[in-house]
Amino acid sequence: MDTNALNQLCGNQGCALPAWVDSTLIPLVYILASILFIRGIKFMGKPDTARRGNLESSLGMLLAVLGVLFEKGVIQAGLAGYAYVIGAILIGAVIGIVWAKVVKMTEMPQLVALLNGFGGLSSFLVAVAQYKCQAAGDGFTCVTLGLTIAIGAIAFTGSVVAWGKLAGNFIKNFNYIPAKNAVNALLAIIGLAGVVLYACTAKSNPSLALTGILLVSIAYLLLGLTLVIPVGGGDMPVIISLLNSFSGLAAAFAGLALKNTVLVVSGNLVGASGLILTVIMCKAMNKTMAKLLFASPVKKKKDGVGGPAKEPVAMSVEDAYLVLEAANNVCIIPGYGMAVAQAQHAVKELCDKLEAKGAEVNFAIHPVAGRMPGHMNVLLAEANVPYEMLKTADEMNPMMSTVDVAIIIGANDVVNPAAIEDKSSPIYGMPIVNAFEAKTVFVLKRGKGTGFSGLENPLFTADNTVMIYGDAKDTVSKMVAEFDDK
Ligand code: NDP
Repeated sequence: MDTNALNQLCGNQGCALPAWVDSTLIPLVYILASILFIRGIKFMGKPDTARRGNLESSLGMLLAVLGVLFEKGVIQAGLAGYAYVIGAILIGAVIGIVWAKVVKMTEMPQLVALLNGFGGLSSFLVAVAQYKCQAAGDGFTCVTLGLTIAIGAIAFTGSVVAWGKLAGNFIKNFNYIPAKNAVNALLAIIGLAGVVLYACTAKSNPSLALTGILLVSIAYLLLGLTLVIPVGGGDMPVIISLLNSFSGLAAAFAGLALKNTVLVVSGNLVGASGLILTVIMCKAMNKTMAKLLFASPVKKKKDGVGGPAKEPVAMSVEDAYLVLEAANNVCIIPGYGMAVAQAQHAVKELCDKLEAKGAEVNFAIHPVAGRMPGHMNVLLAEANVPYEMLKTADEMNPMMSTVDVAIIIGANDVVNPAAIEDKSSPIYGMPIVNAFEAKTVFVLKRGKGTGFSGLENPLFTADNTVMIYGDAKDTVSKMVAEFDDK
C-alpha cells in the first residue's frame, strides 16, 4: 500500500476501516494468538516437539503484533504512529538478530537474563508512556498502571544484576546490602505509597500524581537491585526464574491497563510458568521462597581456611582408560564446564563406546547444573543422547554406591559434598549429585578453578577421586581415541 493510500485510509482525521475489524476481527486474532501461545508452551515441554512449540508461539506473537497494528487507537495515530512502531520493531529486530548470532553459546545464559530484563523494561516504559499520553483513567486503570511500573522496574534492574553475576563481572562478588530486609521493606512501602498517591490524585492533582509515579519508579528500580545483589551461588537460578515470572506479571498488568487481552493472556502465561518453575527450583534446591528473599548470605570462608587439606591426585587419560575399560556401571555428571568446552558430542561418543563394550551408562543431571534451567538437557539432546539415559539427581543418588566410575565433566558446585557435610558452607542444604559415593570418581576440569559459587570442593581430594586435567572436550576425545586404538 503506498503512502497516499494509507493516508487516505487512516489520516490524522480518523480511520476508515469497517467497524467489524475492531469489534470482531481483532478480538478473534487475539484469541487465536492466545491459543497458539498456550499450544506453544505445551509443545515446548518435550524435546522432540520443542521446535514446533517455538514456531507456534512465534506465529502467535506475529498475529498479536498484527492485531495491535490494526487497533483503532493505533490507526488513528496515522502515519507518524506507524513510522514509530515499525521503526522500533525494525531496530529491535536487527539488534536482536545480530546479537543472537554473534553471542557465544557460553554467554547465552546472561543474554537470556538480560532479555528478560528488557521484557520488564518494556512494560515499565509502556506504563510510563500511558501515564504521559492519556488523560487519567479510572481507579482500576491507575492501580494496574502503577503495579506495571513497580513490577517492570524490579524485573529490569534485578535482571541486570543477574546478567552481571552470570557474566562474572565485578558485581558477582558484591553481595552485601546493610540491613537488607529493612531496606527492601522500606523501598516496597515507599513504592506502594507512590501507587496509592497516583491512583488517588490522577484526576484531581497532576503534580501529586507525577510525584506518585516518580516514587514508585525510583523505589522499585532500587528494589530490583537490593533484592538480587545479595543472592549468589546455588540461589541464582531460582531468583532468575522469579524475575522471569515478574516480567510476565508486569506485561499482564500492562495488558489490564491498556485493556489488551492478548497481553493479559501472554503475560499471565509467562508469570504463571515462571512462578511454577520457581517453586520447582525451590523444592529441588531445598529452599523456601522466604529463605531465598529474606535470608542473609552466608559469608565465604577465607582462603586457606577449610580449603582442601591435601593436593588432588591426577591421572593420565591412558590410565583412566584402563579403569573405564573394566567398568560395568558408569555415571556421567555434566556441568557448566561441558558447556564451555562444547564437549557434548564427544561425550555421546564416549557413551557409545562404553555401551558397546557392555557397560551400563547413565547421566545424572542436577537441576542447576550449567548456567540456565535445562542447560545440560539441551546440550545432550543436541548430541542425540537418548532422553531415557538422563536421570535426575534424585533418581540417580540411591544407585550411586553401585556405580563403578562417576565421570564428572566440568561440574563442581553440583557435586560439592560441603553442601551436605559443612553447616558453615554458603551452599549448605543444597541437594547435590552424590558422586562421592561412587567406587571411583573421575573429575575432568582444566585446573584448580572453582565453580560459580567460588567454593573449594573437598570431593577433589577424596581418596576415591582422581583428576584428569585439561579441556573437557580434549580429554573426552582422547578417551574415545583410546577405545578406538585398543
Ligand atoms: P560450576 O560453575 O560449579 O563449575 C564449573 C567447572 O567447570 C569449574 O570448576 C571449571 O573448573 C570447569 N570448567 C570450565 N571450563 C572448562 C572446560 N573447558 N573444560 C573442563 N572444565 C571446565 O558448574 P556446575 O554446573 O557444577 O554448577 C552450576 C553453578 O551455576 C551452580 O552454583 C548454580 O547455582 C549456578 N547457576 C546455575 C544456573 C542455572 O540455571 N543452571 C543459573 C545461574 C547460576 P576449571 O576452571 O578448573 O576448568
